[in-house]
Formats: sequence, C-alpha cells, structure tokens
Amino acid sequence: MSIAENIAAVRQQMDQAARETGRTGADIILVGASKMNDAAACQEAIAAGIDALGENRVQEMTAKLAENAYEGRPLHFIGHLQRNKVRQVVGKADLIQSVGSAELLQEIEKAAGRLELCQDILLEVNIGGEAAKSGFSPDQIHAAAEMARALPHVQVRGLMTIPPVAAEPHGNLAYFEKMRWLYVDINAKIYDNKMEYLSMGMSGDFADAIRCGSNMIRVGTAIFGARDYTK
Ligand SMILES: *Cc1c(COP(=O)(O)O)cnc(C)c1O
Repeated sequence: MSIAENIAAVRQQMDQAARETGRTGADIILVGASKMNDAAACQEAIAAGIDALGENRVQEMTAKLAENAYEGRPLHFIGHLQRNKVRQVVGKADLIQSVGSAELLQEIEKAAGRLELCQDILLEVNIGGEAAKSGFSPDQIHAAAEMARALPHVQVRGLMTIPPVAAEPHGNLAYFEKMRWLYVDINAKIYDNKMEYLSMGMSGDFADAIRCGSNMIRVGTAIFGARDYTK
C-alpha cells in the first residue's frame, strides 16, 4: 500500500470513529509521525493531504527542514525534548506537543522571548504514571497549566498524552477517558475554554482515542509502514 492509500484508509477510520461522537473526520487533525522516514516520504504524505507532520528527534528534524521536507504543512515536535536543544526547536516547530516539565516550559519561554515570538505548545500528561516516561502527572497538570498561562511567550493550545503500551485491545480506554476529563476541566477552569487540542491516539488505538474526545492523532506506522530500527 502506498502512503496515499494508507492515509485514505486512516481517514476513513477517523471519520467512522468521529461520527460516533457527533463529529466527522474533518474535525480531527491527522499528524503524520514521520520519524525515520525521509523528506520524500514526508512530501508524499503532504501531497496526499496529511494535516501536519510530527518529528521526535531534533537532529533529524533539522536535517529534514534543510531539505524542505515539511513545506506546505505545519511541523510539530512530538518527541522528548532536552533542555539544551530547545533553541533548535523554538520558532522552527509550529507546535511543540511534548512539554512535560516546568524546567522545559521555562526554557521554551526563555528561547521564545529571545526571538520575540510566542511558541504554541501542548502540555504532556503522563497519564499512566510511568516512571520512565516524561510528562506532568495528573496531580501536577492543573498547577502546570496555571504556571504556563502566566508565561508571555508560550501559548498552551491543549494537552497531549502517550498512554502505556496496552496489554490488550482497547486497553487504553480508561486512560483516554481520564485525559478527556482533565482536558475539559483545565480548559474550563484555567483557559476560559480557549484550548483547542487534545492530542491522543496512535496507529494502534486512534479510533478509541477519537471516541474518547481526541481531536488530534499522531500516526506513524499505519501511514509510513513499520520503522526499520536496524538502519
Ligand atoms: C512514533 C510516535 C507516534 C506514532 O506511533 P505509531 O504507533 O507508529 O503510529 C505517535 N506519537 C509519538 C510521540 C511518537 O513518537
């Protein structure tokens, strides 16, 4: 299957899940997780109508930016961001989805202030409370949202999560529902309902995520095929 055929198949499943919640596929943003896929593959996805592309690694993103891989679509940074690489991402990525600590928030604020711009971000929630994963815990996320709101060069556009690897089909439904609740609550209490994005759902579980209120999914394998980690 080509990238275009894969995107069409994903779009169809997005639409079906969205209709179960009174929306359509057009209400959901499809971000292609393009790590380990080259600039040509990114451009193929853009030609096939992907809404945005998401990168995980700063070095790979920088190299592909130089090849105009993302031209024509927004670029999202979705991977773990080290504080010493923040300056390479701020002002380059249209949306930094993976902001999961107060230190990283402050570093982004500093870099965006230096460039005199306002950086759009999502706050990442470690919804499964996994020790090895970054992100604010559900207990911390309200305070983090309050803190971020006070930063002049950062704009929180929503929340993002990567739930634990599910042991069984539909294993992440409870996490997705908890995220939906956090999103609605924080949006109403702290952001005057001006946040727009709840980013959750990947190749294996995006239909469930959409059923639970996601409006932004990050899909790699189902679009680009399995990644070859041996290369
Ligand atoms: C790779 C990646 C995805 C996509 O994962 P697939 O299972 O290949 O769809 C989504 N989100 C993040 C943060 C990723 O790193």
